[in-house]
Amino acid sequence: MAREVGHFIGGEHVPGRSGRYSDIYQPMTGEVVGRLALASQAEMRTAIENAAKAQVTWAATNPQRRARVMMRFLDLVAREMDSLADLLAREHGKTIPDAKGDIQRGVEVVEFACGIPHLQKGEYTEGAGPGIDIYSMRQPLGVVAGITPFNFPAMIPMWKFAPAIACGNAFILKPSERDPGVPMRLAELMIEAGLPAGILNVVNGDKEAVDAILDDDIIQAVGFVGSSDIAQYVYARATASGKRAQCFGGAKNHMIIMPDADMDQAVDALMGAGYGSAGERCMAVSVAVPVGEKTADALMSKLIPRVESLKIGPSTDPSADYGPLVTKAALERVRNYVEIGVREGAKLAVDGRAFKMQGYENGFYMGGCLFDHVTPEMRIYKEEIFGPVLSVVRAKDYAEALRLPNEHEYGNGVAIFTRDGDAARDFAAKVQVGMVGINVPIPVPLAYYTFGGWKRSGFGDLNQHGPDAVRFYTKTKTVTQRWPSGVKEGAQFSMPVMQ
Ligand code: NAD
Repeated sequence: MAREVGHFIGGEHVPGRSGRYSDIYQPMTGEVVGRLALASQAEMRTAIENAAKAQVTWAATNPQRRARVMMRFLDLVAREMDSLADLLAREHGKTIPDAKGDIQRGVEVVEFACGIPHLQKGEYTEGAGPGIDIYSMRQPLGVVAGITPFNFPAMIPMWKFAPAIACGNAFILKPSERDPGVPMRLAELMIEAGLPAGILNVVNGDKEAVDAILDDDIIQAVGFVGSSDIAQYVYARATASGKRAQCFGGAKNHMIIMPDADMDQAVDALMGAGYGSAGERCMAVSVAVPVGEKTADALMSKLIPRVESLKIGPSTDPSADYGPLVTKAALERVRNYVEIGVREGAKLAVDGRAFKMQGYENGFYMGGCLFDHVTPEMRIYKEEIFGPVLSVVRAKDYAEALRLPNEHEYGNGVAIFTRDGDAARDFAAKVQVGMVGINVPIPVPLAYYTFGGWKRSGFGDLNQHGPDAVRFYTKTKTVTQRWPSGVKEGAQFSMPVMQ
């Protein structure tokens, strides 16, 4: 029997009442395996009001106790790693080892959040003036929300809720409609770890639920991750009603291959970063930029056989390089981009469109595609494809290679492969992109640094996770104190200054 997924509000499962649903697929077979309730505005409001009541006590709980909930949660996720990865792979389509990576990169942010007693400390200046001390506190915002994409259903929810909750906030998570199973399970585990009911709520839904968050007067901050147009929309609407917002969008990540690069290392890096998770990663490399014709020819001669021999398989096949795409619509969109590329005049060196997975004919599979001679005017260069398609743009020299990511509207990740320290240093200094890899193809910063793209890859001021997350999920209050024994002068009418 197909399962029905409702919401997780106030520490318990709550069925949907709106009468609206969306299908949950298993991409590796193409089957509908369940249906997901889509929340109405009223259902969202109930969850938010409930969270607001619970938040007061949670904010007053000392930070070590809040951290201990996170510590117990880490044990529970470790205990459940296999079942979480299986559920994730079945709903998303990525392979089980890749699903474990998705969970692990979220876990690392929970580990960081265990340091909240230290991270949330304020500042103190003794004797800032005669008998005057100044101190600052970082207080939670209240109820905050996260709206997350399909492609990392474990990692990105944890990036958001772990620091927010550790700081003393209550959290409303509105995960992707495509793969809600893992976010729901994580919320159950947080309760099992000792989190009071109402502090982490998962409200499933679509645009109606998102708009209800954006317009709600209780919600204080919104963290969004998804495609750029929606990120910009969420940013504009959330900030229009006075909320804090950080909204991360799409990407077109370049990897520059200099003539002196270790070509085998560069090809290995491109294979994993271009085709891993079927290219459905915001930090996937989708553009390879060999510098010089000789480098380009050498790269292509090594890449073509590797792309042709990619092993595509169902998500449960541990030996597969990648699994199916997330939905039929995603598969059609990616195929359509390949056709556009052919029409635009790029050379399709490997065409994976005809790939069929034996025994899984209705699954959303696609073979790897590789384009050569892509130019910056083409749509396949300008737009995010989000599939197993790598474009090669040949640059005549380093200056042209640097210009490509700098002039692209996205600025999420970028990499350079070289043995030349000067070139790498110059690149890191000048490239207009938020996250840079030097001989590292997917430079996702570790949990104690922060993650965020530039230009149309990120709207807002602060990045995700790391110290920025503590800043984003708290407000600073600064206290200037003087005790009566220190008060000597009478009323003062001019602007007080420190003598
Ligand atoms: P998406 O934009 O379709 O959906 C993201 C979220 O927005 C979902 O929760 C969805 O329900 C909601 N949403 C969708 N349409 C909406 C609308 N019209 N109004 C309000 N809310 C709406 O993105 P996706 O397909 O789930 O995820 C893939 C995208 O996410 C890619 O563009 C990828 O690059 C990006 N991404 C970015 C990062 C990053 O940190 N920069 C990380 C992961 C994914």
